[in-house]
Amino acid sequence: MKPPAIHVTRPSLPELDDLMPLLQSIWESHVLTNNGPLLQRFEAVLAGYLGVEHISLVANGTLGTVLAMQQAGLTDGEVITTPFSFVATTHAIKQAGATPVFADIDPVTLNLDPAKVEKMITPQTRAILPVHVFGFPCDVAGFDDLAARRGVKVLYDAAHAFGVKQDGQSVLHHGEMSVLSFHATKVFNTFEGGAVVTRDRDTKTAIDRLANFGFLDQVSVDAVGTNAKMNEFCAAMGLAQLCGIDGVLAARRTVANRYLDRLQGVPGLRCAGPADRDGHNNYAFPILVDPAYHIDRDTLLARLASENIFARRYFYPLISDLAPYNMLPSADPACLPIARKMADQILCLPLYPDLDEASQDRIIDLVLAR
Ligand SMILES: *Cc1c(COP(=O)(O)O)cnc(C)c1O
Repeated sequence: MKPPAIHVTRPSLPELDDLMPLLQSIWESHVLTNNGPLLQRFEAVLAGYLGVEHISLVANGTLGTVLAMQQAGLTDGEVITTPFSFVATTHAIKQAGATPVFADIDPVTLNLDPAKVEKMITPQTRAILPVHVFGFPCDVAGFDDLAARRGVKVLYDAAHAFGVKQDGQSVLHHGEMSVLSFHATKVFNTFEGGAVVTRDRDTKTAIDRLANFGFLDQVSVDAVGTNAKMNEFCAAMGLAQLCGIDGVLAARRTVANRYLDRLQGVPGLRCAGPADRDGHNNYAFPILVDPAYHIDRDTLLARLASENIFARRYFYPLISDLAPYNMLPSADPACLPIARKMADQILCLPLYPDLDEASQDRIIDLVLAR
């Protein structure tokens, strides 16, 4: 008999004791959505936790990114982004009305490389949408500099970057806006949800209005908004999840450190990401399987699957290889050699807070086995 299935991630749930009083308050107030009391409380507590000033909670990260783009005026022209991400990043650019342009990535952080982005800037370029992939911080100083020199905006897809710090500061402080996802599979979840981090209160207010159909007040609508509101149930989840978040992050760190220790020095295997993991959230545990490893990436994936362990190829295929985008000039594989190589070698090993040591060792032993 096979041991129980281990998936690449397992959503974290809050303690029911933390959640129930919040649900009780919904049942008492009968306020289910539309800027309710729990949403307002969650927004304030979360801003404090993340160390940022202004947050708009939204229904999910994808809609948050579309609204951020819309509010930044990026409804036409070109937006440079990474092909090495979840497809929602590029979808958001298209849905806002702009044209995505792909640039290549850095082989260490796996994030968009400012030098490669600069080469793709044209008179039509309006903005850059980098992603802090797997919570590894982008070269934010490089993008700050590029934005200032070339007069383009920078918005971050921070779906993976919950709680990530650099030099003690939240990575969410960079760019015009950063968008978080609280989807079930993320480090911090509200079942579904997301947030737009803005630099000022007016932008926050504008995002809130866009998320509520563009209503200014009961009788005026000043923009083509949508419905991207976070409901009270999700806000309750968020408040309850925040009670346990430090434990979740510590448990993720323990699992990641065990992989780092035991997978060191394996020929042909590299643990992806920068060596300095201070302030990291251990969103995932990506490894790169290169030709010096004794089997190829897909054979390793199949070997793990035969033992009921389901690693995942994040991110393969590249977004630039997917049907809606593969005809863009910038999607030409010859323009994206590093992204392509990383997509062909990447494998995310299971990482979640309650992955027990015995299960993890079973995974590691299979990776080490010849
Ligand atoms: C999950 C994810 C999103 C989308 O977030 P949702 O909340 O699921 O809409 C966007 N970008 C990246 C990189 C993601 O991983």
